[in-house]
Amino acid sequence: MSDATRDIEALIELMARLPGLGPRSARRAVLHLIKKRGQVMAPLARAMAEVATSARECAACGNIGTADLCDICRDPKRATGEICVVEDVADLWAMERGQAFRGRYHVLGGTLSALDAVGPEELRIPRLIARTRDENVREVILALNATVDGQTTAHYIAEALEGTGVSVTSLAQGVPIGGELDYLDDGTIQAALRARKSVQ
Ligand SMILES: [Zn+2]
Repeated sequence: MSDATRDIEALIELMARLPGLGPRSARRAVLHLIKKRGQVMAPLARAMAEVATSARECAACGNIGTADLCDICRDPKRATGEICVVEDVADLWAMERGQAFRGRYHVLGGTLSALDAVGPEELRIPRLIARTRDENVREVILALNATVDGQTTAHYIAEALEGTGVSVTSLAQGVPIGGELDYLDDGTIQAALRARKSVQ
């Protein structure tokens, strides 16, 4: 194998590690990139290098952006009294696609899991509790996946906020059992947010 071929094979191997891409589709993608070197590959490489150095977690909510505070936390038009709690940044982006929520977010970074030894300290739960005090939060909306761990996490947060005056609600109908937010369509997310219910 020549050096050039080895470089291309290495690129294919890296691409194949991306979610949703297997070895076959990675090979096809790399071939496409090479054919469209000027229009796609070079700008993509520049954009990736840029984001690789600038991407960071928002210090307040855990969203991913390129500044210390993300666009949502910096936006003065977003209501500060409501925090929508999600497991992952992908869920935050799914909620934003639905355009139904105009408050702020809090990304936990996972769910409580006895099996994987994930406790509240491993997630951003203490930070969430602190934010409800510091930002005068009236309502925490739990937009967690309808999985066992997601619901365990929801109950833990509801208990932790009991007696603080913060009302805790969760997305209601529309989120199927075992369902993941990232796979729901925008209409389903809007309906689920509107029909949120109290968990206290
Ligand atoms: Zn943020």
